[in-house]
Amino acid sequence: MRKIAITCAVTGAETTRAQNPNLPITPAEIAESARAACDAGAAILHLHVRDAQGAPTQDREVFREAIALIRARSPIVIEVTTGGAVGMSLAQRMQPIALSPEMASLDCGTVNFGDDYIVNTLPMMRDCARAMKEHGVRPTLECFDLSHIDASTILIEEGLVEPPLHYGLVLNVPAGVRFSEETLAFFVDRLPAGSRWTAITIGGRAALKGVKAAVALGGFVRVGFEDNVYLAKGVLAKSNAELVGQAADIIRDSGNEVAAPDDVREMLAL
Ligand code: ZN
Repeated sequence: MRKIAITCAVTGAETTRAQNPNLPITPAEIAESARAACDAGAAILHLHVRDAQGAPTQDREVFREAIALIRARSPIVIEVTTGGAVGMSLAQRMQPIALSPEMASLDCGTVNFGDDYIVNTLPMMRDCARAMKEHGVRPTLECFDLSHIDASTILIEEGLVEPPLHYGLVLNVPAGVRFSEETLAFFVDRLPAGSRWTAITIGGRAALKGVKAAVALGGFVRVGFEDNVYLAKGVLAKSNAELVGQAADIIRDSGNEVAAPDDVREMLAL
């Protein structure tokens, strides 16, 4: 038996209310969704915010407002995004790091994103890693490709990222590496020894399979409207908490334990 952390990505940058009308958008809605997700078993909140028009923003002040509301309601660990949205500069994307959240995502390479792409050169990755180190933020090293795992080891060798290491293995991004349990297992096999990792599988078809594969392979799991809006085929999830509850059931049914926020703080030395 082991403790498995559930990350909930409640909003994301690209998901819309047209895809699921229950998507939380304002800081208050995000904070309430995070509280409910935590109550259902999520230990980590992956946080994106939106502007007043509902468009993705990396504005530090919107993050500040959201983080204050979340902390007032829930003990959940907050992982801010530095991926932002397609077309944003690195300076824009890095803004929430200065708020010293406990965790932040750190994209480890350039990746197709449907018809678009997100650029992450090695110098950009170094800037991001350096800022996180300065502010005491634990990176989640997001890898969308095998080359990203190898690139992450450069940051480690240069001392910009230090153990305990936590990876986010992102599969099934449109025009990226497709998800299969075999592919996920191969990615996991390439990680530095002793790394912890979370499977991030995008889209309704891969969501549950990704959770089950991660549980079987010794990882953590991620669910939420950023990655998938369906509870089952053709059935929209009523809330992020409903998706978390489904993942928590899979973890318990496998004979493992759902990690609490403080378990994650201990495991990742936050
Ligand atoms: Zn994200």
